[in-house]
Amino acid sequence: MEQTFIMIKPDGVQRGLVGEIISRFEKKGFSLKGLKLINVDRPFAEKHYADLSAKPFFNGLVEYIISGPVVAMVWEGKNVVVTGRKIIGATNPAESAPGTIRGDFAIDIGRNVIHGSDAVESARKEIALWFPEGIVTWQSSAHPGSTSS
Ligand code: UDP
Ligand code: MG
Repeated sequence: MEQTFIMIKPDGVQRGLVGEIISRFEKKGFSLKGLKLINVDRPFAEKHYADLSAKPFFNGLVEYIISGPVVAMVWEGKNVVVTGRKIIGATNPAESAPGTIRGDFAIDIGRNVIHGSDAVESARKEIALWFPEGIVTWQSSAHPGSTSS
């Protein structure tokens, strides 16, 4: 079953949006498979965002991510990577539709509340980076999933 890595960024934690964000993924029907509140250090944040190291906003982005605790999560379910990105909304909150997390709770691209993996392969890498200890294995009885159509 497909999994994605979701992180509530420091502004989301500071603003008390943790429950709201978890609730949206839960109510959609996705299954929570990993969850922890942690402070990450600079080398770790730089590794997570390594693909963006050449971007002009990279240093500011790393400062933002290490500015306070984040909530790291693994969510599982059919098409959870793409659907998770839809729940999150566009990168720039000015372009995120109302009803999405960024559309409802953010204004600035530099404080956009949440991260979600952009592909199944990056999700696999990010889950391995953030959860080296592994994640809990359990099957949802409410949403048993399907292996055939
Ligand atoms: N970001 C920024 N300025 C930009 C573009 C991105 O500060 O012009 C930040 C923003 O927090 C974004 C993160 O860098 O969420 C990662 O950028 P990416 O393009 O991967 O967007 P995402 O996948 O988070 O939507
Ligand atoms: Mg991204």
